[in-house]
Amino acid sequence: MSTLNRLFEVDKWKIVETSLHKEDFRLAESMTSLGNGHMGMRGNFEETYSGDFHRGSYVAGVWFPDKTRVGWWKNGYPNYFGKVINSTNYIGIKVLIDGTELDLNQVEVKEYYRELDMQHGVLTRRFTIIDGQKETEVEVVRFLSVAEPELAVIKYCVTAKNYSGEVTFTPYLDGDVRNEDSNYDEDFWYEITRQSSDYTGHLVMKTKDNPFGTPTFQVATTMNVKVEGQVTKVSHLNKEEYVENTISVTLTEGTPVSLYKYVAVTTDRDYAESELVEKGNDILKRSIEKGYDALLSEHRNGWLSRWEIADVEIQGDDEAQQGIRFNLFQLFSTYYGEDARLNIGPKGFTGEKYGGATYWDTEAYALPLYLSTAKPEVSKNLLVYRHNQLEGAYYNAAQQGLKGALYPMVTFNGIESHNEWEITFEEIHRNGAIAYAVYNYVNYTGDRDYLNEYGLDVLTAISRFWADRVHFNKKKNQYMMHGVTGPNEYENNVNNNWYTNRIAQWTLQYTLEVINSLKASGHDEKIAGLSISEEETNKWKEIIEKMYLPYDEELQVFVQHDTFLDKDLKPVDELSPEDRPLNQNWSWDKILRSCFIKQADVLQGLYFLNHEFSVEEKQRNFDFYEPMTVHESSLSPSIHAILAAELGKEEKAYEMYNRTARLDLDNYNNDTEDGLHITSMTGAWLGIVQGFAGMRTAHETLSFAPFIPAAWNSYSFNIVYRDHFMKINVSKDGVRITQEGPELSMKLYNEEVTLQANGELTVPLKNLA
Ligand code: BGC
Repeated sequence: MSTLNRLFEVDKWKIVETSLHKEDFRLAESMTSLGNGHMGMRGNFEETYSGDFHRGSYVAGVWFPDKTRVGWWKNGYPNYFGKVINSTNYIGIKVLIDGTELDLNQVEVKEYYRELDMQHGVLTRRFTIIDGQKETEVEVVRFLSVAEPELAVIKYCVTAKNYSGEVTFTPYLDGDVRNEDSNYDEDFWYEITRQSSDYTGHLVMKTKDNPFGTPTFQVATTMNVKVEGQVTKVSHLNKEEYVENTISVTLTEGTPVSLYKYVAVTTDRDYAESELVEKGNDILKRSIEKGYDALLSEHRNGWLSRWEIADVEIQGDDEAQQGIRFNLFQLFSTYYGEDARLNIGPKGFTGEKYGGATYWDTEAYALPLYLSTAKPEVSKNLLVYRHNQLEGAYYNAAQQGLKGALYPMVTFNGIESHNEWEITFEEIHRNGAIAYAVYNYVNYTGDRDYLNEYGLDVLTAISRFWADRVHFNKKKNQYMMHGVTGPNEYENNVNNNWYTNRIAQWTLQYTLEVINSLKASGHDEKIAGLSISEEETNKWKEIIEKMYLPYDEELQVFVQHDTFLDKDLKPVDELSPEDRPLNQNWSWDKILRSCFIKQADVLQGLYFLNHEFSVEEKQRNFDFYEPMTVHESSLSPSIHAILAAELGKEEKAYEMYNRTARLDLDNYNNDTEDGLHITSMTGAWLGIVQGFAGMRTAHETLSFAPFIPAAWNSYSFNIVYRDHFMKINVSKDGVRITQEGPELSMKLYNEEVTLQANGELTVPLKNLA
């Protein structure tokens, strides 16, 4: 495991850095990312910085199909890798103090303080710079409004401490930006129009046409600048893909001078192209009339009301507290469910790797959190998003010569845009997560209408894929699936990955159940509309019955795939620390041949289908697989935390919780400089709610079996479950559940209990170990 790289102090609500980390600049930029669902950016500086950094500013839903570099000669290979693209830099402000450009990589910095206030969604920097005898204090505040999502606001304040002179600000909009991960080092943008005048300007950029027929996007940035101070000179300039204002202001010793930069970011996803600038100007006018303080306060209140529902409080462990809040903050900065066209990319607005599109991560890891912390519409939107992309999923299956629908590993529009063959062609288990999400949503919310309206379309399409993808092994009289990659991406092209076979079998089973229940409730026309025949359902039954699921009698475990047990099996403990993370120290070939497991694979199945396995089965498989797991996917620790908690392995559960909650804060996988692990940020919440508190919802029954980690005094969280808004508090003294809502029958430590309408329930803690 990597050594911890902790740049930021432990604080319950803040991410605080007290010195400038030039060596770890990118890491610090990732950590101080901001977003408001509509847009976001890495923690780049406003002023010029000549050291190493990664400029990144992204607009939700604005992407580009970057032509594939490898594999295109293979039939069925995706033509492009879909990317969320770096968009106009609108935070830039060059600062000249008495003619010298402010550049924290060059000047002497006396005090440096950066704070991300997660409670209110505000990023602040404060520092003092020394130039000869002159001391200058600078404070910069930035927020992306959650009340007005197209609005970004920056307050840049300069105070000459011991002299008088002049400061010149050049706030600008720069459309000449690139993606670091572009396949051909291409510029994805060209300019449509620009304009500047004193204190204002705008720049409209458009993504280039592409041969793949995917949509282009226009993004307009409109700025308006206000100054508090004695202005001596104003000018403006614009040139290709660039617009600036230049404002000189007198610096009087001890008196702060402030520049306010208001920017509206509008796109043709929301407005007609011809209206983009006008709409931006409307937003700016409205905002400036309100004024900076009012804008800041409505934004802060927006965050406070999010926390009122979703906050998880931990007493007695500030590291754990900071971890969960950081995760929830960054997750909600990426997606708060307001826009049904959007989804949750693995890096959100914090980096470029992974393309920033939709992965199975959403259904497998994010959906449970949104089910419990947001209105049901949000989860439904996430599901309908996939329904809307069914056509793309049919196309993907057809590309592989198969029937039915194959949901993509990476996408913006339903069409596969991942570029590694072992994932694109083989990591088909992702289809199971989409089907499972339908079950999860309906089981949690009780919204059975969903099945008739959308759910069965998706389930049938996926079942048809599985039915075609399996092959019949006559010798063994069983159905099998060869040439797949399971969730453990540290092995490819394996035969009969237990998880894939099991989730395929489960999908077929669940689809049949849904068909039967829709028939029973008189929805025959739906079944007829999908042309589901008895012959087809009989075939599915046969596959269910004869699906091959590798099992080892001696070890009594499910076998990850046909030849897994032939490997040189040894625990991670035997690896030397220098080897880890493996993906940064070993050749890919060596990784593939090793037994080491990147993330939950068999255990992913035991997590999803939790209610179908006995405690003994979970125990044996956990004890067998976890010691070989390196958790080099950020998605891994949470699943292990949940299962460990269920099995009474409290220390392991706590270790895994910390690993998921502080994955980026402590840079566990040594890759946070590329961006944050947004989709796995639900892991901390899952670790507490489904892990420590043992929440389950199988068979439409809410249940808990809480324990408290030894280091904690108490923890509490809220969930929305159907008509109930519930607060769960777990302390050393016991469990207290209160609710707003009607009477509810539920289970606590496996015993049936009744929670009275708007009532409260307390029970002592039980030892699960
Ligand atoms: C994981 C995948 C995941 C992807 C995006 C990979 O490292 O192995 O399961 O979907 O990251 O988060």
